[in-house]
Amino acid sequence: MTKQNPSTIVWLQGLTCNGNSHSFFNYEKLEVFSKNFHILHHPQINTQYSLHDVLESDFSFDFLVIEGALSKNPSILSRFEIPFTKIVDNLEKRARYIICAGSCASFGGIFRLNNPEEITGAVFNGKKQGGYWSEQKKNVINISGCPMHPEWFVQTLFTLRNSSNILLDEYKRPKEIFSYFVHHGCLRNEYFEWKVDCKDFGLKEGCLFYEHGCQGPMTHANCNKILWNKTSSKTRVGSACLGCTEFDFPKHALYETHKNMSLPATPFGISKRAYYSLAGIAKSFKIERLEKRLIDENN
Ligand code: SF4
Repeated sequence: MTKQNPSTIVWLQGLTCNGNSHSFFNYEKLEVFSKNFHILHHPQINTQYSLHDVLESDFSFDFLVIEGALSKNPSILSRFEIPFTKIVDNLEKRARYIICAGSCASFGGIFRLNNPEEITGAVFNGKKQGGYWSEQKKNVINISGCPMHPEWFVQTLFTLRNSSNILLDEYKRPKEIFSYFVHHGCLRNEYFEWKVDCKDFGLKEGCLFYEHGCQGPMTHANCNKILWNKTSSKTRVGSACLGCTEFDFPKHALYETHKNMSLPATPFGISKRAYYSLAGIAKSFKIERLEKRLIDENN
């Protein structure tokens, strides 16, 4: 069997807090990663080429990773006095795939909030198609999240390296990761079913949907399947899912449940009438076990 050469990566940062880079640096098996992938350029670590070297050259590479939001307005974003538009336009032609690392590159993220006309993701501006590129570019893949999970990123790169066959959802996110909801695998599902609220952040008991703004039933991501640092997730430690993988992140009033006539939004894909009827019945049962502390330190 012939040995495959490492796949090559150029990493570019637009408007960003660097969070996706830091998430990636925390990937637990970087040694395995570096046997299969060669990072030609990354702005934050020592790499073979500077950005200037890459721009001066004409070699092609496998993955252009874009971290951060983009803008077509050259006065908003530049690097070393080169308009960012020129940099992106140079590099995108030389890459097999463009990987948008995180929600800012995917949808515009937090930077888009104040200026949605000028700050966008690569092929989406929030929910709308047409970001930096006005059409759906075929070779763009979004790994949304604030930040993205390092496993999602690495898993996607390996899939593309080993086969070009990857199924994407309507927002160009890999289905293998984003067909799940954060709600799937959350340890609080029983509380959700019986409508038992979490009394405060950080507690083990109760569901965070009713009072604490949990977006788990509407957020596509497998955070409760592939845990963070192989250990935990927001909802496991008693903090609400903030919906960070979705096109409309960040919503206003995080940690608050948006209610209409004192009723919370319905979980994804469930009719309001059915949900509120079921919820009313479930809430009428008082299940004593679910009202108690899971671990009672006094007994
Ligand atoms: S805390 Fe959030 S993710 Fe967990 S069961 Fe409740 S709504 Fe679902």
